[in-house]
Amino acid sequence: MTSASDICAGRLAPGAYHEAFSDLHAALDRHEARVAAERCLFCYDAPCVNACPTGIDIPLFIRQIATGNDQGAGKTILDSNIFGGMCARVCPTETLCEEACVRNAAEGKPVIIGELQRHATDAVMASGRQLYRQGARTGKRIAVVGAGPAGLSCAHRLATLGHDVVVFDGRAKPGGLNEHGIASYKSTNNFAQAEVDWILSVGGIELRCGQMLGHDFTLADLRRDFDAVFLGLGLQAVNALGAEGDDLNGVEDAVAFIEALRQSTDLSTLPIGRRVVVIGGGMTAIDAAVQAKKLGAEEVTIVYRRGAEQMGASGYEQELALVNGVVIRHWARPVAVYAADGALRAVSFAATTVENGRLVDTGETFELPADQLFRAIGQVFVPQVLEGSHDVLELEGGRIAVDFERRTSLPDVWAGGDCAAGGRDLTVVAVEDGKQAALSINRMLQGFVPLAAE
Ligand code: SF4
Repeated sequence: MTSASDICAGRLAPGAYHEAFSDLHAALDRHEARVAAERCLFCYDAPCVNACPTGIDIPLFIRQIATGNDQGAGKTILDSNIFGGMCARVCPTETLCEEACVRNAAEGKPVIIGELQRHATDAVMASGRQLYRQGARTGKRIAVVGAGPAGLSCAHRLATLGHDVVVFDGRAKPGGLNEHGIASYKSTNNFAQAEVDWILSVGGIELRCGQMLGHDFTLADLRRDFDAVFLGLGLQAVNALGAEGDDLNGVEDAVAFIEALRQSTDLSTLPIGRRVVVIGGGMTAIDAAVQAKKLGAEEVTIVYRRGAEQMGASGYEQELALVNGVVIRHWARPVAVYAADGALRAVSFAATTVENGRLVDTGETFELPADQLFRAIGQVFVPQVLEGSHDVLELEGGRIAVDFERRTSLPDVWAGGDCAAGGRDLTVVAVEDGKQAALSINRMLQGFVPLAAE
């Protein structure tokens, strides 16, 4: 019989938390990195480069590692992707560059591009050297809203082009998803914050935390006071479960759980259930489930309404969950959540299938005992954050409409990352959005006409 106290802190022995949340992969040492780099064929027109959303010159940086120039390799990466260190930790490389690697097609084993990228960018970070500085001052000021990967990528590129940038963020700490929304074991030793500090130290960027769009200032204020505006707002709300009892105690948002865990200074104080159910099929679901298990939950089950192939989480991520003892059940949707005596007891599910292209119930049902449930069924952009601006930004599919340069329907406003239509909810895509927007803003400020779409 469960009770309200089944969600409690300190399930593991003191000291076990450090080991459970240690680095997912040990970093490559110099010898391992050279051996791995030697497998690269340095392909002409390399498919791995085309598969990288930020277009990193992968064969070049791998060749630099092979010749012992680790810091040069790091610079090659950071020139294209200023968040190269964090992307090396969180990118689903198995569905991007490593999937495209010709060694993968030939031998079923790609060059370990992600681990090599980490090796090179770690070398830069360990050196403590700043590779960039603000360009010759242009006198132009740009407002960036959101200190996540999109916003800071945009701010950094603008600063190197000589502009002055003010970055606003509603939270107390910058970093966005990298700092608040990614599993702890993917970014140990405070790496995300160290990377942000390094990016901000380029010069020319002023950070104003605790400043929220729509609350402390409006878009109209920014358009009046700055030469251009970039919106990297992220997503603000989690989708509803669509099941009876969605609002019961013990039903929580997975992103809030992950954030609490990332910001915790003592993991033994975090309450976790004995039997945890996670609803969803993306990386957030995997991050929440694996961390629940690592915190000491006895049973953790991910339930997804479709099959393994349709899950947003990659095969690697699904495997990671399984090896950590998480059970994944496919083809079911939650129908109702039950509680008694103020504590969550169980979740009932309807089995699903696809008929004529539509997801339908099969008529079968089952129940899972649960004392904690995490919703990981996607986040949504809340356009209300733009209210009070007296400006109407065009939306597309509930997010801000942008063109290929990340220009919005307003001539002096750009947007990127998850808040922009077409975003793929990936850090690396947000970084590229910020970079492309900065280049477009710079062209506009220099008086060039916008590029024509290809
Ligand atoms: Fe090297 Fe693979 Fe890229 Fe070819 S596709 S350049 S082998 S990493």
